[in-house]
Amino acid sequence: MAEFRTLLELFDAIPDEDAAIAHFTSVRWRGGAFCPHCGGLKVYTFADKKTHKCAACGSRFSIKVGTIFEDSKVPLRKWLAAIWLLTTHKKGVASTTLARDIGVTQKTAWFMLHRLRAAAETKSFNGPLGGSGPVEADETFVGGKEKNKHASKRTGGTQGGKGKAVVFGMVERGGELRAMVVPDRKASTVQGIVTSHVAPGATLMTDEFTGFRGLGARYTHHTVNHAKGEYVRHYTLHTNTIEGAWSLLKRQIVGIHHFVSAKHLSRYVDEATWRYNRRAAVEGTRVDALIAGADGRLTYKALIA
Ligand SMILES: [Zn+2]
Repeated sequence: MAEFRTLLELFDAIPDEDAAIAHFTSVRWRGGAFCPHCGGLKVYTFADKKTHKCAACGSRFSIKVGTIFEDSKVPLRKWLAAIWLLTTHKKGVASTTLARDIGVTQKTAWFMLHRLRAAAETKSFNGPLGGSGPVEADETFVGGKEKNKHASKRTGGTQGGKGKAVVFGMVERGGELRAMVVPDRKASTVQGIVTSHVAPGATLMTDEFTGFRGLGARYTHHTVNHAKGEYVRHYTLHTNTIEGAWSLLKRQIVGIHHFVSAKHLSRYVDEATWRYNRRAAVEGTRVDALIAGADGRLTYKALIA
């Protein structure tokens, strides 16, 4: 399979559309060919190397069927360039920039990026956090004013004020980040998420937000008091990791996209989380990882609904 570490290497390794299809096929069928309609494992490939037929259900299909690329008129090679730009640049890429870089309209670029964010959405989590390191949990407000630091967030309403959405996250130090848009900051909401993502008995670090009270029954729960300026009471006792992830998330959303509607926010959060969790990976590996997760479809109609 083609390997690449720079955008030039990508274009050298994948010089035309047939090569792009071949690359996409090898990544998607890494574990063997399958039918997107019935899941059948016996698949014939026609001489054009682009048309496949399922032995079980008899349907003919291209490798794009059942993925975010289905029914897209944009060549796969342009998609690969878009994936490169989205996964390689720390803050992602704006639709206006992508439109200019690959030669599509801004509307098409916007739609492409949303489809790629859908592919970045974490479909299944591998297991609970907290298996090898402490887990930091925290929430943050996105949208509205940037003044929402810890001291003020405890006095705000459950929704954090008009125009602001609440994003909740957990990160295992030296491990994975999981973040999601949540409807509110109620203890039941916050604790429901923590208990479903963090292994019982794990070490948990949070601030003193009342929504976290009671988690000590299940975890070794340490709280950090930001209001007292007590940011690092002990070198291991802090929530700097999750706060670093939040500042990166906000720089992406505010710095690149300027404004993100609440409707689409969860996709931007998925994109930022995806990139955060693969920040140490080699470029080509990141591109292929996104392709491998390209199952499912996102229609324009569904996107603008
Ligand atoms: Zn089939």
